[in-house]
Amino acid sequence: MTTPQRLPLLYELELDGLTAWLKERRQPAYRAGQIFAWAYQRSAASFADMTDLPRDLRAQLETAFRCGPLVPGAVSQSEETTKLLLELADGQTVECVRISMDGSYTACVSSQVGCAVKCAFCATGQLKLQRSLTAGEIIQQVVTINSLGERVRNVVFMGMGEPFHNYANVVKAVRRLILPEAFGMSPRRLTISTSGIVPGIHRYADEGPATELAVSLNAGSDEQRRELMPGTARYTLAQLLEACRHFSEAHGGRPVTFAYVLIESVNDSFDDAERLGKLLKGLPHHLNVIPFNEVSHARFKPPAYPRVSAFVQACRRHGLNVSLRHSKGGDIDAACGQLRARGEG
Ligand code: SAH
Ligand code: SF4
Repeated sequence: MTTPQRLPLLYELELDGLTAWLKERRQPAYRAGQIFAWAYQRSAASFADMTDLPRDLRAQLETAFRCGPLVPGAVSQSEETTKLLLELADGQTVECVRISMDGSYTACVSSQVGCAVKCAFCATGQLKLQRSLTAGEIIQQVVTINSLGERVRNVVFMGMGEPFHNYANVVKAVRRLILPEAFGMSPRRLTISTSGIVPGIHRYADEGPATELAVSLNAGSDEQRRELMPGTARYTLAQLLEACRHFSEAHGGRPVTFAYVLIESVNDSFDDAERLGKLLKGLPHHLNVIPFNEVSHARFKPPAYPRVSAFVQACRRHGLNVSLRHSKGGDIDAACGQLRARGEG
């Protein structure tokens, strides 16, 4: 017998796929729009809640699909962040975070279970890649976060996993976030963060929606980057920055955001700041310096505040458009992969 857990997620279907399914059941096309509005805009917990649909259609939908927010397995909360650990249909778990920022909410979602890039400073990098998420599973994280209260204004792909190692499903999810009949969000309110998968960036620049792009840079030389981010070793920094320039030019000179996790005695010297200045020269950019957030197993430390501040000032002197950021919710293990990693530790 089919258990409800095994039914396909409604969020895997495109609008025309659902329209076709309805047509086979002699239902008018406009029902697809009604169902989408319930599922995406109102975070309906079940088909039974979709009260303007005929009762027999609701019953048919219930035997065909799953929908609704997931029940978090673990929640950790601080003033600005709520972090959820979600169990997927096959028992795998992923994290997503709701971040409160300037009076509105941002959802930080995962794109994979684990990550193959294996960054030395990242908790997710210590979890072996288990699998990529489907587009529906990515969407379901947003639905779950929206169901906590007010709908989110921004979505960032900065949870577990490398989005461009799961290109097709991530782009499908992004398109659903933008689709007026689904979430209807502005592309400018969505950010894909990548460790720098060069072919993915070129492809996204050519064919992807006009979202924001963030790149986790973390190093100013190829050698240093290989050590910190082994899974990016096949691309040079020169290739990476060329891909970033392509993205920027494809979107009318839009700046690319670069993240730089600052680690004591690893990448926090004045020489590092100078190298960054040379690398990003002439490219529209924002550089976010983020002091390393301590994760279990990692052998690194964040620099003391005076050093962080001196590094940021040095970046400014080298012409960089730099801000100092703190990864929100460090106190509740909100850096990606930490909640799940703790469960396994
Ligand atoms: N895989 C993508 C998406 C995840 S984003 C990427 O790497 O871009 C996660 C962000 O958190 C990255 O910018 C990463 O550099 C940063 N990060 C990872 N571990 C961290 C830590 N321990 N302290 C501070 N930032 C961290
Ligand atoms: Fe993967 Fe990003 Fe973590 Fe690196 S920082 S291991 S790419 S999730």
